[in-house]
Amino acid sequence: MSEAEFDVVVVGMGPGGEQVAGVLAGHGLAVAGVESRLTGGECPYWGCVPSKMMIRAGNLLTEGRRIPGMAGESVITPDWGPVAKRIRAEATDNWDDQVAVDRFTGQGGRFFRGFGVITAPREVTVGEDVLRARRGIVLNPGTAPAIPPVDGLAGTPYWTNRDAIEAEQVPESLIILGGGPIGVELGQVFRRFGAAVTIIEMADRLLAVEEPESGELLGQVFGREGIDVRTGATAAAVAHDGHEFTVTLADGARVRGERLMVCIGRHTDLPGLGIARMGVDDSGMTIAVDTRMRARQAGGEPAEGLWVIGDITGHGAFTHMSMYQADIVIAGILGRPHHEAEYHAVPRVTYTDPEIGSVGLSEAAAREAGLSVRAVSSPVAGSARGWIHKAGNDGFVKLVADTDRGVLVGASSVGPTGGEVLSMLTLAVHAAIPVQRLTEMIYAYPTFHRTVSEALARLGEDKPGEG
Ligand SMILES: Cc1cc2nc3c(=O)[nH]c(=O)nc-3n(C[C@H](O)[C@H](O)[C@H](O)COP(=O)(O)OP(=O)(O)OC[C@H]3O[C@@H](n4cnc5c(N)ncnc54)[C@H](O)[C@@H]3O)c2cc1C
Repeated sequence: MSEAEFDVVVVGMGPGGEQVAGVLAGHGLAVAGVESRLTGGECPYWGCVPSKMMIRAGNLLTEGRRIPGMAGESVITPDWGPVAKRIRAEATDNWDDQVAVDRFTGQGGRFFRGFGVITAPREVTVGEDVLRARRGIVLNPGTAPAIPPVDGLAGTPYWTNRDAIEAEQVPESLIILGGGPIGVELGQVFRRFGAAVTIIEMADRLLAVEEPESGELLGQVFGREGIDVRTGATAAAVAHDGHEFTVTLADGARVRGERLMVCIGRHTDLPGLGIARMGVDDSGMTIAVDTRMRARQAGGEPAEGLWVIGDITGHGAFTHMSMYQADIVIAGILGRPHHEAEYHAVPRVTYTDPEIGSVGLSEAAAREAGLSVRAVSSPVAGSARGWIHKAGNDGFVKLVADTDRGVLVGASSVGPTGGEVLSMLTLAVHAAIPVQRLTEMIYAYPTFHRTVSEALARLGEDKPGEG
């Protein structure tokens, strides 16, 4: 048993934890970084980065398939080899985090490999090491794939996102449980590389948390690409005969496939972190935080010396959220001025083709919040750029306005560059730019983002029935 004292102990080196640990160490604080798996977290090794490499490759294939009728002939022969190789060589270093660990220790931090548990206020135990934190503990433990209690599933060689990212071959057929962002992104990739893909989704559409139009459009696109989308469907039982999975749905239908990927959501284990020892409720799935990322104790007051960031705060499971919250913690610990956390303009992008970007409130959420709502949409194909683009021009811009305040409170941007077009809508919602000012702006011709100006024009039209 060894004991050591630090200014700050960071438990979980996801994107935000790594940032906090590195920046504070770089400022001369004594920092311990504790990581049980890989420094950098889910995003670089099994999440954002490798999945977007896969998507980039799948999109290249599809662009090639769009050549006939527009630019000649094409013969597309997909090869997963370069994708699997690139993920190993460029994204994950074959799932080795030595470069990231060296970067942190090079900044002056001390790294501990192992699972950290809060054993007392300002004290973390990692195996035989007891780490004390003079200033406090920063928790960034992230989430793990959730596995539903479906009859027969446990014990079968099902995939999670981690196995899918590590795949060296494309399966002939793939069943996906869950039509959320991970399921649809990876499902489209494997389909584009030739797998027969079936997506089983309990809700009545894909991407159930997005605007209904987004999930419905994606369902249509997937149908055209040959993905079998089963919405309103629940997996009742799973069996694996050594070669093949059979998923039996609640209505008795059966789906067979070589592989089964489970991506129904994410799981957290709060009691295992020891937060109750700092008076923080560990009975839920997320840890309540205040606007400076301090954990809230059961009574609501902040727990002194415990900051929490990332997926586990429940404010959006995104790398950009983890890093946004990390900046607030860094400023708090360094005593620098910084705004408090606000979540009215959180951007989200699902990197399917079309990309599904959204920010702020959906139309339904805005109405539920009691706002005076007007919502309009404009199709990408109706814009000059969308019409020119032709093949692959599915998409729309939807605006949700609070007519009392004259500002946008939410928006969706779906299309070939939906995630990029989203940036201006994020700014509009974030800064509450008056709709009037947005309509007076100049939009470059012929960009995809001109669809925003077309939607704004509709917002200004006197069509009460549309809102
Ligand atoms: C397939 C996929 C695609 C994704 N794509 C995107 C995307 O395009 N854009 C985006 O913004 N987000 C994406 N995400 C989400 C993104 O990966 C996460 O939101 C992001 O990693 C931030 O998570 P986090 O900071 O909470 O921590 P994580 O990245 O989950 O990291 C937490 C780390 O803490 C470690 N840990 C946990 N408990 C302990 C402990 N007690 N002691 C020591 N170590 C511990 C874990 O091993 C882990 O390494 C994707 C996720 C998946 C699965």
